[in-house]
Amino acid sequence: MALIGVLALQGAFREHAAALSRLGAAVREVRQRKHLDGIDGLVLPGGESTVMGKLLTDLHMLEPVRNRIAAGMPVYGSCAGLILLCEQIEDSTQPRIGLLQATVRRNAFGRQVDSFETDLAVKGLTAPLRAVFIRAPLITAVGPDVEVLARVDMAAHGGEGERIVAVRQDNILATSFHPELTPDTRLHALFLGMQA
Ligand code: GLN
Repeated sequence: MALIGVLALQGAFREHAAALSRLGAAVREVRQRKHLDGIDGLVLPGGESTVMGKLLTDLHMLEPVRNRIAAGMPVYGSCAGLILLCEQIEDSTQPRIGLLQATVRRNAFGRQVDSFETDLAVKGLTAPLRAVFIRAPLITAVGPDVEVLARVDMAAHGGEGERIVAVRQDNILATSFHPELTPDTRLHALFLGMQA
């Protein structure tokens, strides 16, 4: 059985842990560097990416987490977790893991619709997924190794065109939204399927 770490410094980590447990995974809350030892995968939850990045830096965990992911450990970042994974964060120098070849715009939906839910077609899932967006980021550019799994139609949210909200690059999975806030565990199952 896979042992999955859930970064538990801040944010919606309990909900991720519950979803993974429901799927039969063993879960460990990761609060210190030593908690990274022996985990087979890691979830970076939603919350506040600036706070999480600072805590990871202060606790000397940023580099070890980056090294484990670079060595192939599967990682799933939702919302703030996605932001932490991206190489480029628009208008920000905040600390990051930075291994996902993508540019992200924080709080990209503006104030009027800063939080909303929608049914989203996600590549790899047969039926649409209920996606909860909370002060969510958008991916504005991706590199050649990044597979786009889902886009949201911005017309419904005061914008234009379609924007990327779920991606995969090798062992890295990331979504702008929060599947852990619904009873649907299919996205977590997809992540568990990435274990070698
Ligand atoms: N706006 C938050 C950030 O920039 C992300 C919001 C979330 O994780 N729900 O970190």
